[in-house]
Order: sequence, then C-alpha cells, then structure tokens
Amino acid sequence: MQRDETSDRETVLAVSGLRKSFPVARSWFGRHRKSLRAVDDVDLSIRRGETLGLVGESGSGKSTLARLCLKLIEPTAGQIRLFGEPIERLSPRAMRPLRRNLQMVFQDPFASLNPRLPIGRILAEPLRNFRIAQGADLARRVEALLARVGLPADVVNRRAHEFSGGQRQRIGIARALAPEPKLIVLDEPVSALDVSVQAQVLNLLSTLQDQAGYSYLFVSHDLAVVRHISHRVAVMYLGRIVEIGPVESIFSTPRHPYTEALLAAVPDPAGRQRGGTRRRGPRLRGEIPSPINPPSGCAFRTRCPLATQRCVEERPALLGSGDHAVACHLRQA
Ligand code: SF4
Repeated sequence: MQRDETSDRETVLAVSGLRKSFPVARSWFGRHRKSLRAVDDVDLSIRRGETLGLVGESGSGKSTLARLCLKLIEPTAGQIRLFGEPIERLSPRAMRPLRRNLQMVFQDPFASLNPRLPIGRILAEPLRNFRIAQGADLARRVEALLARVGLPADVVNRRAHEFSGGQRQRIGIARALAPEPKLIVLDEPVSALDVSVQAQVLNLLSTLQDQAGYSYLFVSHDLAVVRHISHRVAVMYLGRIVEIGPVESIFSTPRHPYTEALLAAVPDPAGRQRGGTRRRGPRLRGEIPSPINPPSGCAFRTRCPLATQRCVEERPALLGSGDHAVACHLRQA
C-alpha cells in the first residue's frame, strides 16, 4: 500500500490518517445527529523545494485539507508532522513559534489585505510579530520583500485599493515570505487574476522557490495552472485522495476515471489543431454527492462509467507502485 514517506529528512510536512468532520445537525437534546466528513483518511507529504498541486471540484475538501495542514483548523483524527515532529495536538500557544514556518496566500488578495493600513505596515507586521526585525532594519527588510516580488520601494505608503489585482497578490506573497517560511499554502492564488497576470504570478512563485527552496501546497480547480507549477499532483474527491503522482505521469497517463474526466474537461490546444478541442475521455456526469451522505464503497461510483457491484460494496484503497498511486479497483497495477 502506498503511504507517503514521513521519515525522509527532506520532508517538510507529512499528514497521515487525517480526518475532519463538521457537525451539521443536532437533536433536541443537543446531541450531534449528522456530520459532514470533509477530509477522510488522507496521507500525503511535501518535500523541501517541492510543489504539490491539490486539485478537485468545488466540495472535494481541498481547502479544508489545506487549512488542516496549517493547523488553522483542528483535525478530528490523524497525525500532522512538521519536520518529523507531531503538531496535531499542540495548543495555539505552543504552535506560535512554529507558525513562521507555515504561511498562506489567499485567493482574494484584496479581502486579505487590511484596507486601512499602508502596505509598509502590512509587511512590517509579521517581521515584528516573529521578532525578526525592528527599527531601521525593519524598513530595509520591507524594501527587500517588495523587491523580491517585483514591486518598487516607494509603494510602502500606498494602500491596497491603489494596486491592481496582480500587484495585490504580489503583496500577499511578500507578506507570506516575511517570516521566511518553509511551507506556503496557496489557495487558488491566481484564479481571480487575468490569464496574462496569472502567468506572471506563477513565474514569480517558481523563481522564489528556485531561490529559497520553499515548499508549496498549491490548491486549485484549474488543471492547466496546476500542470504549470507542480512537481506532483494529488486529486481529491469527496474528502479522499483518489490519485497522486508526478505531474507528467498524472497528465500523460491518468489512472483514475475521475482524473481522466477532469482532464477531458480541459481545453487541449493540440487537439484543436487536429480538429477537436478537448482530450478524449469520459465526461463528468451529474454533481458531486453530499459529503453528509456519501455513497457506499467507492465514493465516485455514482458518476463512474466503469462502476461494478464491487465498487458499491468495497472502498478502494490508494495503492500504487513508485510515486504513482490510485484508489480504483479496476486501475491498480
Ligand atoms: Fe469507478 Fe469502481 Fe474505480 Fe470507483 S473503484 S473509480 S467506481 S471503477
């Protein structure tokens, strides 16, 4: 069985058996009657200098998994290791010194930047909070952060509304870089930007990673973007990883019917030249089922063109050889 390596010294973050349930209804006596299992028995790891792309439809649980990895929400069960040390039971106070290693860039840079504060103060805040700099050194560090994301030093007194969307996302990235983190979670960081600006921000992220060895967990529903930036890709469906592997092998030889359907929905410029506009493969039917009442067996069986009786009765494990693993009864080597 494929379990992500957690003993590797290059592993920055590793999670195993990770679960998160949310209560959604209570009885008259206050007891929980139903729960929504947003993340269900997930194992994965992220190595130093690696980008792990996390893809899936809306409702697949990818944003919840990203927040669990940063311990912004508490897991219901499972283990989270940062550099091999378990952190899942640490209190907010005990987590505080570790927080500088774990940063996040949000989808909407405008909403995530305080509109009342000048950019210089926004960038100075994490430097002060983590006691990285003060006084004249603080101003020098803020200037250096702006330079790293391609913004001039004279923007320090401007406020968020005075910048374009792409510039605001650069500021969001600069704020995440301030404490020199080891892992940055990027939650749909370019989906609110124009395509040309998306490419600039993705190239900036790649350059920063080459320079400093940051690890990224890159959450997106856009497979073209994920292909551009990721080293490995994990595909999520109804709270579980259904396929994980190196980016080339996920895109050239996808094994899970869900991955095939996601890829078939992506426009293919090469296919257009041959008279078609999309890759060949099954089309996704229907909607993702409710995580409050997921299907028995394989969660994808209600939309899978290959489903058999075994898929109704038995949940497929995530199995594979080498780096590529899949959770499908019919597609395991
Ligand atoms: Fe389809 Fe069955 Fe494979 Fe699930 S286990 S993806 S239902 S064939």
